[in-house]
Amino acid sequence: MKQKIAVYAGSFDPVTYGHLDIIRRASKIFNHLVVSIFTNKNKKAMFTLKERKDMLKKAIGRDKNISIDCFDGLLVDYVKQKKVNVVIRGLRAISDLEYEFQIAGINRMLYKDIETVFFMPSAKYSHLSSSMVREIGKFKGDVSKLVPPYVAKIIKKRLS
Ligand code: ADP
Repeated sequence: MKQKIAVYAGSFDPVTYGHLDIIRRASKIFNHLVVSIFTNKNKKAMFTLKERKDMLKKAIGRDKNISIDCFDGLLVDYVKQKKVNVVIRGLRAISDLEYEFQIAGINRMLYKDIETVFFMPSAKYSHLSSSMVREIGKFKGDVSKLVPPYVAKIIKKRLS
């Protein structure tokens, strides 16, 4: 079997059980998975890059087949620089498809060798997004079923 590395890129603002479900599935198939935090300067994040990285680190634990990285700019430039051509994305529902299809198509126009591989999470996470978690957190709702305990603690601390 070929040695295969894949990049799973996202904002992870914050990481949720949905992201972790995708990470677990992808890491079973690829030899190495780089989970990369995309820092979009035009998008105001709730958590700093360091916080997002710490949350991911705690959530993933010590798995030597998974590493955490970050980038800004274009995904295609990042993967070229990393010499990786497989990008993982999660598909929650048909509503994600249109956007993801567009991004995958544009990325392929910019870099013909890029392959986007989609994973479906467990049905219980198909309604879950970081923005939902942030919204629930802002109203001091219970996020314990949506994010790992360490992340729930940070959200509580940040918003109290
Ligand atoms: P969000 O869309 O939650 O703000 P990101 O920008 O971090 O999250 O998303 C990174 C990738 O993870 C995207 O492909 C997104 O569709 C996927 N993703 C996010 N939440 C889930 C989930 N609950 N189940 C499966 N995939 C998800």
